[in-house]
Formats: sequence, structure tokens, C-alpha cells
Amino acid sequence: MARGPDRRLRIGIAGAGIAGLSAGAFLARAGHHVTLYDRFDAPAPVGSGLMVQPVGMAVLDALGAGAALRDHAARVTRLLGRRTGDGRMVLDVRYASLRRGLAGHACQRAALFAVLLAAAEAAGVRLAPGHEITGAEPGPEPVLLAGAERLGPFDLVLDCLGANSPLCPRPGRLLPFGALWCLVPAAGSVLPPDRLEQRYHAARRMAGVLPVGTRPGDPEPRITLFWSLRAADHAAWCAAPLAAWRDAFRADFPEAAPLLEAVESHADITFARYRHRTLGRPVSGRIAHLGDSHHAASPQLGQGANMALLDAAALAAAVAGTAGPDAALAAYARWRRLHVGLYTAASWAFTPAYQSESRVLPWLRDRLLAPLSQVWPMPTVLAALVAGEIGGPRRGIGPLLAAAPGETAAPLPPA
Ligand SMILES: Cc1cc2nc3c(=O)[nH]c(=O)nc-3n(C[C@H](O)[C@H](O)[C@H](O)COP(=O)(O)OP(=O)(O)OC[C@H]3O[C@@H](n4cnc5c(N)ncnc54)[C@H](O)[C@@H]3O)c2cc1C
Repeated sequence: MARGPDRRLRIGIAGAGIAGLSAGAFLARAGHHVTLYDRFDAPAPVGSGLMVQPVGMAVLDALGAGAALRDHAARVTRLLGRRTGDGRMVLDVRYASLRRGLAGHACQRAALFAVLLAAAEAAGVRLAPGHEITGAEPGPEPVLLAGAERLGPFDLVLDCLGANSPLCPRPGRLLPFGALWCLVPAAGSVLPPDRLEQRYHAARRMAGVLPVGTRPGDPEPRITLFWSLRAADHAAWCAAPLAAWRDAFRADFPEAAPLLEAVESHADITFARYRHRTLGRPVSGRIAHLGDSHHAASPQLGQGANMALLDAAALAAAVAGTAGPDAALAAYARWRRLHVGLYTAASWAFTPAYQSESRVLPWLRDRLLAPLSQVWPMPTVLAALVAGEIGGPRRGIGPLLAAAPGETAAPLPPA
């Protein structure tokens, strides 16, 4: 074991996104020497909106970042999906079906990034921007590579480079559909402020509206609009006038019309593609994969940020509670296996019913799944699924969640 006599580890983290910042904050707070590398020159979030589920909020609370995120986020109590045309309800999930008062927190990526960056800096993480990570040398003292530059050696390397990580042993499959995303001011919205709403045209088109609250430095509440699009059609979308897209969105989702006025050019909109991948074993030697590098999926279930937070908490709890890096990595892999496996399988199974060319799957979704989803105990099961509660998300991390912000969790029994 390469721990020094003071048992503090040298930890190199690649990627200052959700997994990297939260893992770094936990580990630096526990006294380890943490260096966090990212390609950006100055910390800057990219993207629009995402959901943090209740169990992810518990992780943020343990970091002392939960209250700050709640100040910015929108509480989402219900997920609604309707068919275009007849407006028939095909998805209706209420968090309260699982527990009264339960909600997801929808936020701008910038808000989540800001609270995690503040937690990481307060914990003493050393940020090293301007490093494009290109590879890693495994072994008992792994090294990160940034072109010709060798970074390390470390006792432990965490790959938090996201869905396209060059350190991930399996690239996974790029899904045929992606989504267009943009942020617009919430003023003028006629939709309830506590709902994620979607409109489906079979599974070929999906228009969605998610209130995402505010972000530091910008008190204006905002809404994320999203629109699913086949990657093969993206070039044609860019070439067509924006008005054509606005008209299509408005036709499928008339209540969103006032929001579309704020979208002025194609440049306001980001196209995101998704991969599907799960690493059966998210550990190679002394390198652990966390977040999207461990399990990439479409955002249909709204679990990506949540699972990144849970990976970070599990890794930190494993380091705190075991006898060295190798035992910690084994515990991390074991604790996360069931939850990650269930959610990536659910995402793989459900995504084609919402994003595909299939005619059969949306028919089954509307005629079979939608009515069944309202029959006991399905409302509770679906609420638990959406809330990220199935498959033991808290496995191994109880003591970390119980520790007050600023404290280090009590050592766990050896794994
Ligand atoms: C459009 C969109 C919408 C989404 N909506 C939701 C949602 O509603 N709910 C939800 O839970 N999840 C959602 N997700 C998924 C969620 O954003 C991801 O699951 C989550 O960000 C994963 O966190 P991560 O830390 O693994 O990766 P990221 O947050 O992607 O962070 C990766 C970091 O690594 C850095 N990096 C990447 N490559 C390199 C390199 N070679 N060298 C150096 N640095 C590098 C990047 O700059 C970044 O800082 C969405 C994703 C997208 C794209």
C-alpha cells in the first residue's frame, strides 16, 4: 500500500465535473492530497439543466452544499407526459406517491457546478486547469498523461472524464437520438413551476419543459427546453430556419409557445448526444471510473448527475473505511454494482419507447404501460425509480451521509 505514514493518499482526479468535484471535496476534506485536472482554462460549466434526485441531495447535504443548491433549484414534484394531438396522458409520476413532501431538485448545471466547486475549494482540492488528459499509466503508482506531460505518480487515480473519457476501457454505443437543449427565462410561462412536462409524437419526437431555477450571479429563474432529434438529422436542423423548429415545438407543445420567443438563434441551442455503457467492473488496477465514465446513459430517467454524486460518495466512504486503496476500490465496485446495473438496464429498456423510430414501442407505452402505471403498486414503484431509490443507492455510504458537513465520516468497518 502506498499510503504515507500519516495514511494520507496522493489522489489524482481527471475531470472537474459532477463526479470529480464531489469526490475531490469528500477526499480532500478527509485529509488526502487531491489534485483535480480538467481541460478547461478556468472552471466553467457547460450545458443547461438537470435533476438531482433526493438521494443525490443527501450527498450534497453531506458535502455542505445542499442548502446552497436548494436556494437556486426548482422543486419538481411531478413528471407528466402527454401524447401530441389528443393530449392523452401517458406518463404521470408523482414523488409524493413514494413519500409525502418528496421532490426532485431541477437546477442549471451552472448552479450545481458552482456549489460543488465551492465545496471542493473549501476542502482544499488543488485545481489544475488547462490539462487535456490523453491517457493513464496503470500500476501500483498510476500516472495521468496530458500529451507528453506526466502527472503524478499517485496512490489512486479517479477517472471522472464523463461519457467520452479516453481512460474508459469501453467506449460504449452512441445512441441514434440526441437532444437539443436551451435555457430561456421562466417569465411568461403558463406551465406549473414544479413539473417536468413532455409531449410525445410516437417516439420520433419529444418536446420537454423543465423549470431549473436560478444560478449564482443571475437571479432570473429559467426553464430548460429540450427536443429530441436523430443525430443524422442534426445537420439538416442547423441548415433550416430556426422558425421551422419553433413552429414544430409549438405545434407539439402549444403551452410552451411564450417560452420559444426567447430562443433567437441556433447558437442558443446545444445538441447533446448520448452513449450507453456500463463497466461491469469500474476499477482497473489503482484507477477507478466514476460518473458517466462508469455508466453512460440517455438522460431519460434523469439519473446521470445523481449517480455521479453517489459514485463519489461511495468511493470516498470506501477510502475512509478500508485498509488501503485496493480494498477501497473493491468496496467501491461492490457497493455500486446493483444500483448502477439496475438503472443502466432500466435506461436501456425504456429509452426506445421515448426516442426511436419504433411504432410498436410507443403504442405499447401508450396502451399498456400508461394504464398499468396507474395501478397499485406501480405509482409507488415508478416514483421510487425516478427518485433513484431502487437497488440500494445508499449502500456503504450511510456513515458519510450521517456526518455533519465539515466533518469526516467515522471510519467504516473493513470491507
Ligand atoms: C444535455 C444533457 C442533459 C442531461 N440531463 C440530465 C438530467 O436531467 N439529470 C441527470 O441526472 N443527468 C443529466 N444529464 C447527465 C449528466 O449531466 C451527467 O450524467 C453528469 O454530468 C455526469 O457527471 P460526470 O462528472 O461523470 O461528467 P461531466 O459532468 O460531463 O464532467 C466531465 C468533466 O471532464 C472534463 N473532461 C472531459 N474530457 C476531458 C479530457 N480529455 N481532459 C480533461 N478534462 C476532460 C470536462 O471538461 C468536464 O469538466 C444530462 C446530460 C446532458 C449532456
